[in-house]
Amino acid sequence: ILNGKTAVVTGSTSGIGLACARAFAGAGANVVINGMGVPADIETARAAIKRDFAVEAIYSPADMTKPSEIAALIALGEASFGSVDILVNNAGIQHVSPIEDFTAEKWDAVIAINLSAAFHAIRAVVPGMKKRGWGRIINTASAHSMVASPFKSAYVAAKHGIAGLTKTVALELARSKITCNCISPGYVWTPLVEKQIPNTMAARRMRRDEVINDVLLAAQPTKEFVTVEQVASLALFLCSDDAAQMTGANLSMDGGWTAA
Ligand code: NAD
Repeated sequence: ILNGKTAVVTGSTSGIGLACARAFAGAGANVVINGMGVPADIETARAAIKRDFAVEAIYSPADMTKPSEIAALIALGEASFGSVDILVNNAGIQHVSPIEDFTAEKWDAVIAINLSAAFHAIRAVVPGMKKRGWGRIINTASAHSMVASPFKSAYVAAKHGIAGLTKTVALELARSKITCNCISPGYVWTPLVEKQIPNTMAARRMRRDEVINDVLLAAQPTKEFVTVEQVASLALFLCSDDAAQMTGANLSMDGGWTAA
């Protein structure tokens, strides 16, 4: 369904972003991947997309804390493939600290990567989308765009912010055949989560299943993780013609977390 289209996915060297890039490529889109990591691993991921789906895949090291590099990321997609039709603002970091100990530097970094980067990317991508009369903007928000948890002040503020930005952009572009939505996952099974388990087992003297149910999935009623493929599948649906009338939505995929 995405033959001839180009997708830029920020923060797609791992996790949800990489799964989105692979889902779009599977539907025929050329992709620009982006993010941090070990260069050899990034090259392996890029080459795998190209090989597995017979599309073009390029990598940009743009740092989402730098507005000029974000503009360059969109320009790279347009120069390489002639258009950027799909933008997924997905790059994100977390920092956990009581507010009185939360450093200003960490606050600024979380807001820059999780919120401001989306603003910079959207303003760069919209002129081209308007000219072509088609576009899909998808922001990876979080259950924390709707509810809070203690010690995550910057993350919760940024995710609530991204939900507001999503609605505003959706209204502005409502007559331009460009949709803007956000996806709000609960706990998603990523290598990042998996790696926390042994340490948490040791620190809390818990069994693996106790860590998963009582710590990680404490707020998730299904007691199951969301998978990156499930999130990517929703992102792909948002790119379809069937989703043309979905805009400004904040779509939960959180095992019932925000229903409680
Ligand atoms: P991840 O750590 O696997 O992916 C984050 C990506 O962002 C990586 O590619 C990383 O390199 C990139 N990144 C970080 N800082 C960057 C910077 N300065 N410039 C460019 N790229 C940068 O984690 P993930 O779980 O896949 O997270 C992706 C998104 O999903 C984030 O916005 C996160 O807040 C959101 N999310 C994750 C979960 C979860 O449980 N994993 C739940 C809800 C929302």
